[in-house]
Amino acid sequence: ACLIFVLQVRLVSPMFNIILFGPPGSGKGTQSEQLIAKYQLKHLSTGDLLRSEIATKTPLGLEAKNFMDKGQLVPDEVVIGMISSALDANPQVKGFLFDGFPRTEAQSEALDKLLQLKKTEIGVVLALQVSEEELKKRLISRGEVSGRSDDTEAVIVNRIKEYHAKTAPVAEYYKTTEKLIEV
Ligand code: AMP
Repeated sequence: ACLIFVLQVRLVSPMFNIILFGPPGSGKGTQSEQLIAKYQLKHLSTGDLLRSEIATKTPLGLEAKNFMDKGQLVPDEVVIGMISSALDANPQVKGFLFDGFPRTEAQSEALDKLLQLKKTEIGVVLALQVSEEELKKRLISRGEVSGRSDDTEAVIVNRIKEYHAKTAPVAEYYKTTEKLIEV
């Protein structure tokens, strides 16, 4: 038992990684700010990373914009590549807060593998739950101030559809690992 304990300590680094999970408009961005301040985690929001690629007009940004403007998910390989680079670029952090990632089962499998390579893992998945009516209300009012081109009624409907079709099953996966906490 002692040897197993020593091996576990060696294999799992002291990093603590959190996934903030939830539909668009559930408050992931707002809660992220509080969590990174409290636990000094590196914030990795794929939405923010994609918007900064768009702002600097990179080829990746231009490709991603086509999907984002329609309320569709950006292809898995694009976001997985971005997360992989971000993990490599931050070797010394206390942990990561993943915000808006993973959003598909393929992304969650890729994340497990990437973290395993870094000898770490997901500690907890916080799943934010908000009624659909409230989500739409919040996103529409955010659109009035944020200037985000995807916070319009037609695009919001698609984003929520994508969430139910592709992202909600990811929560079921984390339920089986007993890491999911619903808030
Ligand atoms: P967000 O800021 O998290 O609401 O993301 C805005 C948009 O960026 C989404 O509607 C997607 O088009 C795209 N996006 C962000 N994160 C991901 C992801 N993990 N996988 C695929 N697309 C994403």
